[in-house]
Amino acid sequence: EVRVRFAPSPTGYLHVGGARTALFNWLFAKNVGGKLVLRIEDTDAARSTRESEEAVLTDLKWLGINWDEGPDCGGPHGPYRQSERKEIYKKYVDQLVAEGKAYPCFCTDEELEAMKKDAEEKKLPPIYRGKWASASQAEVEEMMAKGVPHCYRFRVPKSQVVTIQDVIRGEVSWNTDTLGDFVLLRSNGLPVYNFCVAIDDALMRISHVIRAEEHLPNTLRQVLIYQSLGFPTPVFGHVSLILAPDKSKLSKRHGATSVGEFREDGFLAQAMLNYLSLLGWNDGSEQEIYSVEELQKAFSLERITKSAAVFDKTKLSWMNGQHLRGLPADDLAALVGGRWVASGLLARAESPFVAAALAIVQNSLELVADAERELRALLSYPLAETLGSEGAKAVVEDNFQQVAEAVLAAYDSGELAEAAAAGHDGYKKWVNRVGKAQGRKGKRLFMPMRVALTGRMAGPDVGDVLGMLALESGDVADAAAYL
Ligand code: GLU
Repeated sequence: EVRVRFAPSPTGYLHVGGARTALFNWLFAKNVGGKLVLRIEDTDAARSTRESEEAVLTDLKWLGINWDEGPDCGGPHGPYRQSERKEIYKKYVDQLVAEGKAYPCFCTDEELEAMKKDAEEKKLPPIYRGKWASASQAEVEEMMAKGVPHCYRFRVPKSQVVTIQDVIRGEVSWNTDTLGDFVLLRSNGLPVYNFCVAIDDALMRISHVIRAEEHLPNTLRQVLIYQSLGFPTPVFGHVSLILAPDKSKLSKRHGATSVGEFREDGFLAQAMLNYLSLLGWNDGSEQEIYSVEELQKAFSLERITKSAAVFDKTKLSWMNGQHLRGLPADDLAALVGGRWVASGLLARAESPFVAAALAIVQNSLELVADAERELRALLSYPLAETLGSEGAKAVVEDNFQQVAEAVLAAYDSGELAEAAAAGHDGYKKWVNRVGKAQGRKGKRLFMPMRVALTGRMAGPDVGDVLGMLALESGDVADAAAYL
């Protein structure tokens, strides 16, 4: 059975890197019918907070990533917070000590510091060379009886080569001589991160550990711990970094990096998911826009790329626009209507006006927030500015006045409102009538008409815009300011 996990440290927000790790694990589990475990790695009590844990869960849920076992929903291998598993870690330390695979170390900080200095001077690797690795039972018992503080160290086997077949990086090997006897349990009773991870992955029956490349150096210690306890070693996959466009490590100075910020900026969860899935994975085709179901079907570990991925916000925005375009009209209206009301553009969100306006602007949106700018543009009437511009010179000189007067007359008589209410076709018929009366057609007719009616030289179909304005235009909150 495939069992994967996402194991965030609750010390901040969910960043795009973490979200991508969670996503790859989730997609893999969905693809093969496996399970995803959410484990909270809060051994660093000083930096971990419940608020952060909740924020991470909220962001994962927003993305649509769900898990089968976790701190919120429980499961057969809990508890799922490392801070609640202290007895479990202690039990395994005791077992390792009993088997001679770990030992108590009574070295003081000063002794360790002196050892480090000595190694530096002799240009030896900075590994533990203290006496407690080979102390006699009697020596240990004496210190224990005196209550001397001690940590527990793992006895690293000498001169062994440990090899893993990383599904992304291929064969990776280490010689155990690069590693000193490392600490499992500190003298204050707190277990050390790598020990917790190995014990948890084993007890939670994790079959595949898919995580960020930065954790690769931890793998040697973790594998040694599995081996010492007779646990099967999981399959590993270390996913490459996400870089900024300038090829440096993606960080705050490149703008938003947390999932929550993107949500607040109006990105769609499915666009975010789609974009993150392609940061270091592809299905071998040219396809770029995927639904969640398509991703679940297409995903495979084998096609995760080894090279670093570049986080390109422009591409993400474009992709968001593609997903916005694909949204059912009602869903888009629900997303945008509230924003228009909140920004004072609209009196109420449940107006047919919203759908009519969105039909006009939907294809020029990249972000939900763009809809506000677009609607303001539709409602604005910058006639004076346009007439004074260089681009409108030909229109003005071609007796613009004549067309403008026809528009005003039709407005006064109600003829224009009637044409507008009939939408695109009604408008077309009316324009053609005006054109005939004035001996104008083509560009000579449509340009001055557009300028007179919208105040602009360019924009969406004038008939559509008039149709929108004809709809309960009382719903436009401060219409007077625009029209
Ligand atoms: N807790 C680690 C992190 O937040 C993940 C460790 C792992 O996946 O093994 O980066």
